[in-house]
Amino acid sequence: MEEIGIVAVGGYNEMGRNMTAVVVGDEIVILDMGIRLDRVQIHEDAEIDRMHSLELIDMGAIPDDTIMRDINGTVKAIVCTHGHLDHIGAIPKLAHRYNAPIISTPYTTALIRGQIEEEKKFKVNNPLVALKAGDSYEITDSITVEFIPIPHSIVDSVIAVLHTPYGSVMYACDFKLDRAPTIGDSPNFSALKRLGRKGVLAMITETTNSSRSGKTPSETIAKEMLRDVLLGTEESHVGMIVSTFASHIARLNAIIEIAEEMGRIPVFMGRSMEKYLLAAHDLGFINLPKNVEIYGQRKDIDKALKKIMTEGKEKYLPVVTGHQGEPGSILVRISNGETPFQVESGDRVIFSANIIPSPMTRANRYALETKLRMRGARIYDDVHVSGHAYREDHWELLRMVQPVHVIPAHGDLAMHSAYIEMAEDAGYVLGETVHLLRNGEILYIEP
Ligand SMILES: [Zn+2]
Repeated sequence: MEEIGIVAVGGYNEMGRNMTAVVVGDEIVILDMGIRLDRVQIHEDAEIDRMHSLELIDMGAIPDDTIMRDINGTVKAIVCTHGHLDHIGAIPKLAHRYNAPIISTPYTTALIRGQIEEEKKFKVNNPLVALKAGDSYEITDSITVEFIPIPHSIVDSVIAVLHTPYGSVMYACDFKLDRAPTIGDSPNFSALKRLGRKGVLAMITETTNSSRSGKTPSETIAKEMLRDVLLGTEESHVGMIVSTFASHIARLNAIIEIAEEMGRIPVFMGRSMEKYLLAAHDLGFINLPKNVEIYGQRKDIDKALKKIMTEGKEKYLPVVTGHQGEPGSILVRISNGETPFQVESGDRVIFSANIIPSPMTRANRYALETKLRMRGARIYDDVHVSGHAYREDHWELLRMVQPVHVIPAHGDLAMHSAYIEMAEDAGYVLGETVHLLRNGEILYIEP
């Protein structure tokens, strides 16, 4: 049977829990295995690391891979494109069901290893294969995976390309076409153009920001925005707290550099801050100056916050978790007065992050900001640029690669629709060359 099957397992109806399977003859490659955290957080007492896969599938928190039973073929590899939880978070719950290696870049592999170690319900013994961005790996005699480096909001991200006897399948989830990233290389346009010339049978692409017009601003812009907020003030002595994505290493690095210009000591606090930062340091993605302080445990964090209060807020730049108002996070504890850090009138709280647009997050964030304001904090929000391509970046990638078929993934129906309209402008036809898939559906493509 000379055809390729694309199985939409998860992440086609929603943001999160991404998983796609590509069927090539009787061999299958799984792309990503992610979690949808808002479905877990809604149950306040959920302890994910002790929960069973089927329970999490019922909650809609991880991909429903039970559909894989109906597909003929053997899974030969699980390929993950980057270390965000919506791409790797379901590995501890699902990977053990497949007798296959997990292939990802070194940073992603380090994060996956950490996930597996924290898992309490299942033993995950799949071999971990660290494949460098830019390299290729022969999965079987007929399938090779190529990693093309691509900027995103976490380091060591790639576009994965499966080269098969029936043609190439490109998986671009997630990416931005950042020509001036602050860590890592700009997109490898010559590799993408080479693929385009050789011919790509199908491109599976994220659609997160496909309804936003124009192009995504570079990470360099975010760094300048942060510098402007932190240094561009006559009130340089006040308390300042930054909150951002712990996994956004480029942003954390910018904060370190700006803290030095401010003459303040950067103090990173939170279990996830410690995890992502140390892994990035171990692999050489980031240099940590001698004065940087990192605290993961609550008692150490509270001790550090006490020290900041006694020695003077103007000497430190705390960088904390909690920008989405997550219950129990450091910023939320600060806003509740549950730490030794006292917010005083005129202290600044800088959100170097967007608000994830779910009603629960909005409510948490609203409560957080209100409590901080009541204590006298001045709020600087959205000091941030996105890690996801906007519409004209999608246009550019589509025209550069010119796949025969294109499949929107990693988004909800509205995001896919915006993408499909853009693809129609580029000459694609819905149902013929651009395909709308829902979770659980399979698309067969003939070369
Ligand atoms: Zn991502």
